[in-house]
Amino acid sequence: MLTVSEFESVKAIKGTFKLAGVRMNVYLYLIDGLLIDSGPSRLQKEIVDYLSNEIYHQLIFTHHHEDHTGNAAVLPGNVPMYIHPSGIPLCKRKPHLPFYRRLFWGSRKPFTPEGIDQQIKTRDHTFELLHTPGHASDHLTLLEKDQGWLFSGDLYVMSHPKSIFAFESIPDVIASLEKVLTCEFKTVFCSHAGILPNGRKRLKEKLDYLQSIQGQVLAKFNDGKPIATIQKEMFPTRHPLNYFSLFENSSRHIVTSIIKKEGSR
Ligand SMILES: [Zn+2]
Repeated sequence: MLTVSEFESVKAIKGTFKLAGVRMNVYLYLIDGLLIDSGPSRLQKEIVDYLSNEIYHQLIFTHHHEDHTGNAAVLPGNVPMYIHPSGIPLCKRKPHLPFYRRLFWGSRKPFTPEGIDQQIKTRDHTFELLHTPGHASDHLTLLEKDQGWLFSGDLYVMSHPKSIFAFESIPDVIASLEKVLTCEFKTVFCSHAGILPNGRKRLKEKLDYLQSIQGQVLAKFNDGKPIATIQKEMFPTRHPLNYFSLFENSSRHIVTSIIKKEGSR
């Protein structure tokens, strides 16, 4: 199901569905002829139908994941599509997704976007592009300085994650949050949490939380505790997604990504 709302001059296109009792939200944003992300193929019909009545001249992806690029191959081919250059080879091939992700979002067909990494302009706006890896290697955040808008893709999602995906890195997310927080902005447009009018505060909360987690993990590691013990002490509870994802999503990856980075210093 799609619902559309407006904030200032930004259209927020929200897709919602339920799976095994878990409610999933995903947001696309449309501003001044620029479409940000294309949504998951699971919502292909709704999204393609909706966009056929909208005008957009260019499309930018915050990153290559299937819930952001899932409909790229079925949207009109004459609209230029952009992604961070490191995402191009990932979009050109068919993704090998674990079963639960195909079930959640649907898969995505290969497509060939163009590389972009400095800025993207529309008639009335200039968006600075900030490379913000951590959730994905090609993750971009869009900053519109005059309006104080930050389109944050999956950099935020939630302020206190208790588990992450195997491909994510806590130290890289910390560095990316520090990077965006050196910029001026107020409103955050998140791909899953939606519009956060007090977004700057929420991003700062996440940064503080992750830095605190990082400090605790390293203190325990330096005391000689094994990874499994650190995980058990810090994150005693497991969540349905941990099992459902066969532990591609797990608190263990929080611990290992911090220790791995420390070891490479
Ligand atoms: Zn993602």
